[in-house]
Amino acid sequence: MIHHRDSQIQAQIDVLNRDYTGTGLSFALQNVTRTSNSGWFNNAAPDSTQQTAMKNALRTGNSSTLNLYSVGFTSGDGEGLLGYATFPSDYEDNPEDDGVVILYSSLPGGSMTNFNMGRTATHEIGHWLGLYHTFQGGCNGRGDYVADTPAEASPADGCPTSRDTCRNSPGLDRKSLPVPPSPKLEPRRLPPFVLSRPQLHGLHP
Ligand SMILES: [Zn+2]
Repeated sequence: MIHHRDSQIQAQIDVLNRDYTGTGLSFALQNVTRTSNSGWFNNAAPDSTQQTAMKNALRTGNSSTLNLYSVGFTSGDGEGLLGYATFPSDYEDNPEDDGVVILYSSLPGGSMTNFNMGRTATHEIGHWLGLYHTFQGGCNGRGDYVADTPAEASPADGCPTSRDTCRNSPGLDRKSLPVPPSPKLEPRRLPPFVLSRPQLHGLHP
C-alpha cells in the first residue's frame, strides 16, 4: 500500500513555499484525496485514457487551483516519468486536463533516490505556471524567455558547474535543476499575489 503520510504531504508543500519564495506565489494545502485505482496509478501519462479518467473524476476548482496528482508511472507511455504538467495556454481548450502529475516517490522522504526532495513538484509546477525549460529551442531559441538566462542546448544531468553547450552565446549554462522560478517572469495564468490552492490527489494501487 502506498499512502502518503500527512507529514510527507506537508513537507512537500513546505518545499514548494521555500522554492517559490520571492515570486509572490504561495501554496496552502486545501484538500487531500486518496484513491485506490491501480489502472490510474500505473498508467498515468499525458494522453492516456487512464489519466483522462483520473482527472475527470478527481479534478476540482478553477484555473487558479493547483491539482497535483501523485502516481506510479509503472507502465504504458508514462513508464519511468518523474512528472509532467499542463501549460496555462492549455487551460481554455481543455480545463479538465489542467494540473500536475508527479511520481509518488518524488515527495520529500520518498524512495526515488536522488529525486526525493520534492523538487519534481517544484519543477513541474513551474511549467504549470508558464515557465519553459532553459534549453527550450536549443542554442538558437529564446530558452525560457527570461532575458538574462544563458542559452543552453540540452538538459543537464545533475549540477555541472562549468557546462557551456552554446559557445557562441554569452554565459555558462545555468547550474542546477529544477528551474528556479524567476520573480522577473510573471506567471501567464495568474496575476501576481494570487494564492494557489493545491489539491493533492494521492493514487495508490
Ligand atoms: Zn520540465
